[in-house]
Amino acid sequence: MRRARHPKIVATLGPSSSDRATIKALFEAGADVFRLNFSHGAHADHQARVEMIRSVEQEVGRPIGILLDLQGPKLRIGRLAGGPIVLQVGDRFRLDLDATPGDATRAPLPHPEIFAALKPGTDLLVDDGKVGLKVLECGPEFADTVVLVGGPVSDRKGVNVPSVLLPIAAMTPKDRNDLEFGLTLGIDWVAVSFVQRPQDLHEVRAIVQGRAGVLAKLEKPAAIDELDAIVQAADALMVARGDMGVELPAERVPRLQKRIVRTCRAAGKPVIVATQMLESMISAPVPTRAEASDVATAVYDGADAVMLSAESASGRYPREAVAMMDRIIAEVEADPHYRLAIDASGTPAHSSVADAICVSLRQAAALLPVAVIATYTRSGYTSLRAARERPTVPILSITPDSSTARRLALAWGVHSLHSDAPIADVPDMVNQACRAACAEGFARPGDTVLVTSGMPFGVAGTTNFLHIAKA
Ligand code: PGA
Ligand code: MN
Repeated sequence: MRRARHPKIVATLGPSSSDRATIKALFEAGADVFRLNFSHGAHADHQARVEMIRSVEQEVGRPIGILLDLQGPKLRIGRLAGGPIVLQVGDRFRLDLDATPGDATRAPLPHPEIFAALKPGTDLLVDDGKVGLKVLECGPEFADTVVLVGGPVSDRKGVNVPSVLLPIAAMTPKDRNDLEFGLTLGIDWVAVSFVQRPQDLHEVRAIVQGRAGVLAKLEKPAAIDELDAIVQAADALMVARGDMGVELPAERVPRLQKRIVRTCRAAGKPVIVATQMLESMISAPVPTRAEASDVATAVYDGADAVMLSAESASGRYPREAVAMMDRIIAEVEADPHYRLAIDASGTPAHSSVADAICVSLRQAAALLPVAVIATYTRSGYTSLRAARERPTVPILSITPDSSTARRLALAWGVHSLHSDAPIADVPDMVNQACRAACAEGFARPGDTVLVTSGMPFGVAGTTNFLHIAKA
């Protein structure tokens, strides 16, 4: 089974998509990676989803990626005594550490770290920015604010503090517990929410110990200020446009999206464009034209993957949403201008042996009638460096490591294959690659296949070999 496209689809699982038949239907419609959103659902629900995904994986014989998305330090106000209140522009409103349920004049905000970071003039946003407050005066246990944008506020609504670097870790005790649990289930990627600094990712990596790839969600202005260092520290990234559009003005999201995709492509790190892509398909079988265009834009920019959130997790049309993304991607890739756009936005490779090989792969694929590029990889590095070049032909990635095979399900253009067949020598390796290319539907006998690998075999980081073979 092969897909006829390079960009990948990530689909979030939730109440609308948690039976085996639906998960299989989503895979068949085009989902390459499934996202488990740990902001919702009990451990038992997520465990059941992982088991169903692995059972579908076994049945279809293709590696499927699983992305565990940690809730992160989502800040919330506490309880209100008499139900929702309505704040009017110009009202004074106090937030404090007093746990007594709030009223029209004050509410508990049980986060001392926030008070430590506030200053007069700091903006606070409540409920995804629907209500805006500005700090007038503050201390270690309170903030007196004036309402800039009025509206209703109810119990436990989220609070965003966009403009300050908060002295909080990216992982809460719940996140640590969720992560430990997810690692025992065998997840492939962990997404870290509200990353502010590279250190946040180092902390996660120290726990993960190589058992999953570490993906940074870019949704805080502080992370954008340190974009290069965060891209370096992460294995993959997500343009998390939901919270980003609260923390920053919505009009800034498109250019940031493009900048993040460019930066990740240059670094060769997989990047997902996420949130509200086909939002109206939560309740309608077709998207708005603007949404279709949004998915297409991410594909023209060369993003590795596009993502569905509520559309596939809790909407009425999960399968249709995946199928729609699949068709939009196919249309873009059929456009001759797509290739021009991808090539024009490519960046020079590193001065390294692996990149010299990968640039040669792309150039050979442009000069010769190449059917497929076969990459042998243990860590996944060679396949990612080949994908970084955005070649015109598919990349058949062969690895003896099943977790590498699953992780690479996220990468642009990579058809990932797990094989632990022993390799005797170079002719044997070339032979195996050509056989796999035919078996997976990428080549027919006589077709040209580019084979790359490192010598000695199985040692990570040794890519140094390119062979042009006939299947
Ligand atoms: P979330 O992340 O759905 O977990 O909030 C994505 C986003 O903020 O866009
Ligand atoms: Mn978010």
